Amino acid sequence: MTRSTRSLQDRLDAEGVICAEGYLFELERRGYVQAGPFVPEVVLDHPEAVQGLHREFAHAGSDVILAFTYYGHREKMRLVGKEHLLEPLNREALKLAIEVAEEFGCLVAGNVCNTNHWSPDDPQSQRDVRAMYEEQIGWAAEAGVDYIVSETNDYYGETATALEVIKAHGLPAVVTLSAHRDPTLWDGVPVIEAAKRLEQAGADVVGLNCMRGPATILSLVQELRQAVSCHIAALPVTYRTDAEHPTFQSLEDAACGCIPGDRPFPTALDPFTCNRYELGAFARDCWDLGLRYIGVCCGGAPHHVRAMAEAWGRQPAAGRYAPDMSRHAFFGTAGSSSSDTTERNRAHAGEL
Ligand SMILES: [Zn+2]
Repeated sequence: MTRSTRSLQDRLDAEGVICAEGYLFELERRGYVQAGPFVPEVVLDHPEAVQGLHREFAHAGSDVILAFTYYGHREKMRLVGKEHLLEPLNREALKLAIEVAEEFGCLVAGNVCNTNHWSPDDPQSQRDVRAMYEEQIGWAAEAGVDYIVSETNDYYGETATALEVIKAHGLPAVVTLSAHRDPTLWDGVPVIEAAKRLEQAGADVVGLNCMRGPATILSLVQELRQAVSCHIAALPVTYRTDAEHPTFQSLEDAACGCIPGDRPFPTALDPFTCNRYELGAFARDCWDLGLRYIGVCCGGAPHHVRAMAEAWGRQPAAGRYAPDMSRHAFFGTAGSSSSDTTERNRAHAGEL
């Protein structure tokens, strides 16, 4: 197969785009990324693990292979003493993504993110950040990506800088913001206002990713729908956030007394994980609101992506293995080869 022959815009205007993110969390859970620094060294150390997850997400219904360069920027590489591997890591991540996109007919997206270096009051930090985006987006452009995702942005100024660099390279831009407990970016611009300005500055898609689960991101998405006319993206974390705990960092687990630091974020969030049906319902809600770009962020796994794809009427390859409880030994309705055995199994169902 070859990569998608249809552009991001073509897909947005027709069947929509599903984009699996959340690589850092899923590969941490699998033992390939260190929690804390969260640097994607796995791209060089275990490329087969990265491609494996790319393939699982594509098989489940992701239309996009997102190059795993999240936190693969100069500031993070310096933090782990591997600045000399910055360029090899980025180029390898792009190569891995393109190879899998070619296998599945997907779009390929480059990826930049919050740098944790931006300061609204420090012009030097802003020049540094621009240089970081220039190098990462430059490598992505050279690799031939279809578009760039700028995500998990905490500052309007930083986000606008990323968008400028993306547009200077002539690439489509999907720009998503972090909505923290107070959905105001850290330089004082409310996320809705920031999204309006980003649309005016040329973003092809604006929206929200990370931080909030489906239950607490949706009201902001509804507000956003009223505020902008371009396409909107929504990629929640797949955790059960609520009004009291609107973000995954704020979740508390009273049932467990052995979590280091007493905070489930980021390594003990398992009991809060949304099930696939919740993500399917979220996908339907988004479709009804007119959204045509959705996905998952931290916590997201292939079963969530499959449920979202199916909720949008797709038939992903993994749909072949969608549940069929009618053939379950105890809860099903289809008989086994022996009717006596079937009767006996069913009789036990109520005891399970
Ligand atoms: Zn996330």
